[in-house]
Amino acid sequence: MPEPEADEVLLKVLAAGICGSDVPRVFSTGTYYFPTIPGHEFSGEIVKAGADVSRSLVGKRAAVFPLLPCFACDACKGENYASCQNYDYYGSRRDGAFAEYIAVKAWNLVLIPENVPTVWAAMTEPCAVAVHAVGEADVRKNDTVCVFGAGAIGLIIAQLARGLDARVIVLDIDDEKLDFAGSLGFSHTLNIEKDDEYLDTIESITGGRGADICIDAAGAPGSIAGCLKAAGTFATVVLLGNPSGDILIGQEDYWLILRKQLTLIGTWNSDFGKRKNDWKTALLHMESGSIDLSKLITHAFSLRDADAAFELARDRNEFFVKILFLPHEREEMDEFDRPPSPSGRYDPEEAADPGDFGDLENPGDPEDPEESDVWDVWDVWDESSGT
Ligand SMILES: [Zn+2]
Ligand SMILES: [Zn+2]
Repeated sequence: MPEPEADEVLLKVLAAGICGSDVPRVFSTGTYYFPTIPGHEFSGEIVKAGADVSRSLVGKRAAVFPLLPCFACDACKGENYASCQNYDYYGSRRDGAFAEYIAVKAWNLVLIPENVPTVWAAMTEPCAVAVHAVGEADVRKNDTVCVFGAGAIGLIIAQLARGLDARVIVLDIDDEKLDFAGSLGFSHTLNIEKDDEYLDTIESITGGRGADICIDAAGAPGSIAGCLKAAGTFATVVLLGNPSGDILIGQEDYWLILRKQLTLIGTWNSDFGKRKNDWKTALLHMESGSIDLSKLITHAFSLRDADAAFELARDRNEFFVKILFLPHEREEMDEFDRPPSPSGRYDPEEAADPGDFGDLENPGDPEDPEESDVWDVWDVWDESSGT
């Protein structure tokens, strides 16, 4: 059992997601140092506070920003921690959350609003990345937004854009993913490889203008070229997909950037400052229901079945969106959350203990952060640490 240092808390890990980046980390590239426990998308219950941390946090549920900034570089001084020059990271550079317990810095905690399930909060990281990208895209009401890549982050971006009353088109090369997007209520789904006429469809949906905003959440040459093609004149293209190799763009496609005078925006990770905090915003979106993760969590495993979980993530022999580890037994989770189903497919209906899911019909107001306890943790921490 890790012992929290003065500025840490001990977190009982209740849910930890497998990120795409964990697959090479486990099977090929390894972690930064060896041995290191992976797992950087997680949530749990605070069970012990270090000497300098307020005891009032004990018993509360929290998600954890996995990046430990140096607080000394220029980026850190500007609260741009994602661009820190000398950071540490739970789950890649130091031990992460594929474990029953982890000691984490109190600074990295974000409290979970009462009606947000802990399993959802384990996905705060991908949600914050999506919040960051949609914020940079500056999506407005009635904009046509093309989201390329229907993985977890793409689908969350699509939900956020829909919540802003944009017209959303989801594009991918995988029909199964597009069908799944359809099951989330997205009626415009297009396969950019199989559907030769997909650009014509976007033309007709937009009355010939092209998309106002294209967001690449796939990081593939085809999806980026698709963004440039689907974009209208003066449109914005937001790039966040992490490529697995070189991105080559043909001359014809490159010309589109020039001719259409596109604005290209690169985004990285998410903001975790006091001024702007995508993590808190992400949790408020979960609270209000504009982010709905109930269908996105498709699988859950105990840590004992880590092999099966990672093989699924690597081999993709079954459709999944997000695979979680639920490190504790059902009895230990009842108090806070939906109990875990047996390893394998996650069925929230079957697993749900009525009442535990919280009151999603009656959410707080994301425009009024004061209403939510998600903002409390730094106040508590400030008092106790004097920072
Ligand atoms: Zn990740
Ligand atoms: Zn720094």
